[in-house]
Amino acid sequence: PAAFDPYDPLGIDDLLTDEDRAVRATMRQWAADRVLPHIAEWYERGELPGIRELARELGSLGALGMSLTGYGCAGASAVQYGLACLELEAADSGVRSLVSVQGSLAMYAIHRFGSEEQKRRWLPPMAAGETIGCFALTEPDHGSDPAGMRTHAKREAGGDWVLTGRKMWITNGSVAGVAVVWARTDEGIRGFVVPTDRPGFSAPEIKHKWSLRASVTSELVLDGVRLPADAVLPEAVGLRGPLSCLSHARYGIVWGAMGAARASFEAALDYARTREQFGRPIGGFQLTQAKLADMAVELHKGVLLAHHLGLRMDAGRLRPEQVSFGKLNNVREAIEICRTARTILGANGISLEYPVMRHATNLESVLTYEGTVEMHQLVLGKALTGIDAFR
Ligand code: FAD
Repeated sequence: PAAFDPYDPLGIDDLLTDEDRAVRATMRQWAADRVLPHIAEWYERGELPGIRELARELGSLGALGMSLTGYGCAGASAVQYGLACLELEAADSGVRSLVSVQGSLAMYAIHRFGSEEQKRRWLPPMAAGETIGCFALTEPDHGSDPAGMRTHAKREAGGDWVLTGRKMWITNGSVAGVAVVWARTDEGIRGFVVPTDRPGFSAPEIKHKWSLRASVTSELVLDGVRLPADAVLPEAVGLRGPLSCLSHARYGIVWGAMGAARASFEAALDYARTREQFGRPIGGFQLTQAKLADMAVELHKGVLLAHHLGLRMDAGRLRPEQVSFGKLNNVREAIEICRTARTILGANGISLEYPVMRHATNLESVLTYEGTVEMHQLVLGKALTGIDAFR
């Protein structure tokens, strides 16, 4: 057998196709050139400057709406999309979030539930990164339980819709040209494609975040936003619509979280080999080796799990409970890996000179968004027992 590779101890690379490896190499190189040299500074400033240019570059690489077909989308496999998420999140969860929200939430909603006209109008510029999208489900008083949302849309006599309400914690909100907004109507919860230049729409940015600092997060204020009759997504009625978009995005997070974990693990491994205390590398102490061994086990188990889910998605056999399984495990283990990596780096672990604390604090958001740990435990608990414990 091939020699043991500390960076791929299980030989997971052998599971990938040549095309998978090419996608991975392209994304890794882009992140190395365009994100890694600047990310500490962006993080410290709490900004993602040049987000429009970054979006256009990601579009030209085919990373936006990557696994969607037609309308300028790359039509890549689910595994390839997952590998892209992993590589982007190995740079920073904020950049991966930009891509997830654009492709798996905003574009996916239009692709899956939109009319032919909506798809033709919005998807090509979104795939190219010329138009940034956001996806607005969460409200200040309704997060895990979106069924209680207050944002509502009323149909006027002429057929127009009037949209009123507030959304909170919306990724890409302040830079979006188009927002997919979920609102209560007489027919149940419906999705609306909202050009953000409409009167009554505003998206103030949320500041003072200690996580996902290199990501734009916003409040959306919808103050009687008037929309034409054809702004509604025709194929989505009820919460099933937004929930299926979230399942798609969560799948990408199952991979992405392992990118943050990999970057932190590798930083800790390099540090442990070179940093000396008590006259020898700290990687020579059993306590450090136990940490590294446990981190490697969880990291590569997580990547295997992500790959398994990717193959199921490509075969059209992935269930939402399986995505919950992956999100619950991989984000929880990723944050643990980053926290352990931080201890191996000692004081340097808290510095932005190294990536681990940034990844650990980013993952605090990833743990909460797209369904908290507890929500995924409840999803699995319900699937295992047949008993709904949500309320
Ligand atoms: P709550 O729902 O109030 O939950 C608080 C705590 O109570 C959690 O621990 C939760 O698990 C627990 N809890 C709630 N109900 C139960 C129960 N039945 N049993 C046990 N425990 C329970 N939303 C969007 O729509 N679009 C976005 O683009 C977006 N981007 C985001 C970006 C960031 C950086 C962050 C932090 C959030 C983003 N969100 C977005 C919002 C995110 O999806 C919500 O924060 C998440 O769904 C949780 O909702 P909440 O914060 O209101 O917490």
